[in-house]
Parts: sequence; structure tokens; C-alpha cells
Amino acid sequence: MKTKLEYQPDITETNKLICERYWLRESDKRSGFIYTCREIGQEFDVKHQDIPSIVKINAHLVVLDCQCIDCGTTKICYTRSQLIRLDLIRWRCDNCWEALQKRRDQEFLEYRLKQDLLAEERRQTALEHINQCRSIQLSIIPSFTELSDVDKLLLAATVESIGADNLRNTVSLRDNLSLPLSPFSKLDEEILHHLFKRNLLILTPENSYEYVTINEEKELEIDFYQAIFEFAYSIENLTEILINAKSKKNTSALVADSQFKSWCEKVQLGECLSYLMTRSRLNDLAPPIGDKLISILRACLAKCSVSTMHYIIWKAVENAAAYLQKPGITRKHASNSISGNIERVFGKIYSGSWSHNSSYRDFSHPQSAMAKIFFDYVFVVDDGGFHYTIDELFSPYRSQRALEQVSYAALGNARSTNYSVTIALDIKQS
Ligand SMILES: [Zn+2]
Repeated sequence: MKTKLEYQPDITETNKLICERYWLRESDKRSGFIYTCREIGQEFDVKHQDIPSIVKINAHLVVLDCQCIDCGTTKICYTRSQLIRLDLIRWRCDNCWEALQKRRDQEFLEYRLKQDLLAEERRQTALEHINQCRSIQLSIIPSFTELSDVDKLLLAATVESIGADNLRNTVSLRDNLSLPLSPFSKLDEEILHHLFKRNLLILTPENSYEYVTINEEKELEIDFYQAIFEFAYSIENLTEILINAKSKKNTSALVADSQFKSWCEKVQLGECLSYLMTRSRLNDLAPPIGDKLISILRACLAKCSVSTMHYIIWKAVENAAAYLQKPGITRKHASNSISGNIERVFGKIYSGSWSHNSSYRDFSHPQSAMAKIFFDYVFVVDDGGFHYTIDELFSPYRSQRALEQVSYAALGNARSTNYSVTIALDIKQS
């Protein structure tokens, strides 16, 4: 390394010697310093701590083979550590370093500006699409009078659970911390999707554009968990829907409506899935939720109540957790065993070889708005969806209807029989 020591013009002889000793290196190697500061201090009767500052004031080392990569200025060192740390190949002087920082800051600023502009463009495109969709929705809102009874109940549950205080729009499912809409988050989203498709929930552009994306087919994809919607009807209409949902109604007609039954089944299935996931999570298990498991749960629910199912699920998960303790059994094995356990426990209870106490609602699985409106108010029972099967709830209303049909038919038959008898008698008499 080529260096040159330069002194201040007014330097004293002693200080010159101190500076020389300080910078003296073995064959000009970068860190080959011959004297320590302590040695120099002893030689000149100066505190060793003062040596670096004396050197710094009186001299500097010009590093002849190190130039600023931007402006070519030669590097000057005032202390040993500066020389040791020096990056000979990529050294940049302070001025050039500052200029570079400024350039980088500017570039970053421009980048941010460009990103903001792009985001704004995306926002505008999304808003445009949402507004188009919104105006289509607004033009085809079904008239209040032709709304089906089931859709009214769904709307009532939605208003009850996620209706905002002003009763004009919803809060998002994400922000709802009070009464859950349904027992299961996927079912919550399904309900909103259904009402959205029926144009009973309308997109609000300003609140929801972040949760709406436009896919490659230029269709809107809505994040129903986070989006906020406007209700299609007036506060008066919604109030009427709510009051009607909670008062006496034509239960036989609802029981005969396959749509109604389907939502009731979904609520009960949701209760089971939600409980299964909680119990599994607590035991660090994750059963695959697929068509197989769902068809098993549906089959069980046809025969026993959600209350019994909670016991069955609890037992099935406990068994899986015990199975996990066996050698060679992985979490996946144990998780996969849960659906088989459910079938087995169900079989034992259903055949009567196992008895169980009725279980009550777990506090972490409170009754949902859907469960209240689709079961309690319709069948006038307390938490009916939890304690009874669909058949137990539906059959009194089915048989009543069936009985009515039978008696009408019987009456018709009897009449015609009588009539023909009369005619026959008449004929005989004549
Ligand atoms: Zn420079």
C-alpha cells in the first residue's frame, strides 16, 4: 500500500516524531503498526490516550492507491482505525456519499409515487366495476312483497347479527363480535353470498373496494368476510321483517319448503363443524374437512341432535388424541382417525349399547342469529336446533298437513261413494 504522511506547517519537532511513530508500519502493510500508543506515550512522556488526538491535529496519511470511485479524490486518514477499515476498492468520499444518498432517496420517493399512482388506478378501476355492479343490483331489487319467506328469515338473521346501528348497512363479519350470524364462518359467508346474489345486499363502493377484486374474466370477487353491504330495503321494511321473523308464523308452509329445510340442515351441520374444529384445535389435531366427513355428519344428524353430536365429536377427538400417544402414530394419522371415530361412537349410541348424558352448549359456541330465527321462533322451542333433530321438529307439522290432505281425500271419496250409492238406489227404486 502506497501512503504519504503530510504534516501541518506549524508542527513541533516532538509532535512530528510522535506522528511518525504513530503511522510507522512494517513494509507499509495496512495494519503493520510497529509502535503501540502506550510505547509512544512512554517514549515522549505523554498520556497514551492523548496520542491519537495529537496525531489527528498535526498530520494525516494520504493513501495514494485509494481514490473515490465517483470523483477520484484521494483518501486521507487521520486515525489508524480509518486505515484499517478502509475499503480500498469501493471507497466513496463524504460528498459523493451524501450525493448518492440523496439520489437514492429521490429514486425511492419516485418509486413510492409510482406505486401510489398504480394503487389509485387500481382503486378507480375497482370502484368503476363496483359502481356498475351496484347500479345493476339496484335496478333489479326484488319487490318487498314478492320476497320469499326463507329469504325474509335470512335477511332477519343478517340484520339481527351484523346490521349496523343505523339499519342501513352491515358491519363486516370480521368486525362482528356480538351475536354470530351462523355457527360456522363458512356458512356466514354463504348466507351473505346468497343474499348478495338475490340483490338483497348491495355493494357499497367506498367501504368495500379493498375487499373486492376483479379477476381475469373481469368478474367481481368479493371477500364476504371483510366486505360491508347496504341493505336493499328501507328501515321500515327491515323492521317489519324482524318483527315477523320473531312472531307466530305458518310453520307448516315453512316445513314444506325445501329451501327452509336446507338452511336448517346447514345450521346444524355448521354447529358440528365448528365444535369439531374447536375440539381438534385444542388437541393440536386437524381433521380434513371434506365431502366424506360432511356426509358422515349429515348421516348422523339425520338420527341425532346437535347436542348428542357434540358428545360424539368430543369423544371422537379424545380418542384421536389418545391414539396420537401411541408409538409411530403421527398427527396426520390421528387427525385422519377422527371421522372413523365419529362413525363408531355414533353407531354405539344409536344402537343403544352406549348411553350418554345430554350435553349443553359450550360457552364458546353460543347460539347464533340463524339458529334463533330458523328454529326457536319457527317451532317455539328454546334452542330447538341444538336439542332436536330436523325430523323431530318438522314431523308434527308435516303430519298435520298430511292429515289434512288425507281427510280431504277421504271426504271426497265418501261423498262420491254416497252419491253413487244414492244413484244406484234411485235406479233400483225406479
Ligand atoms: Zn468523491
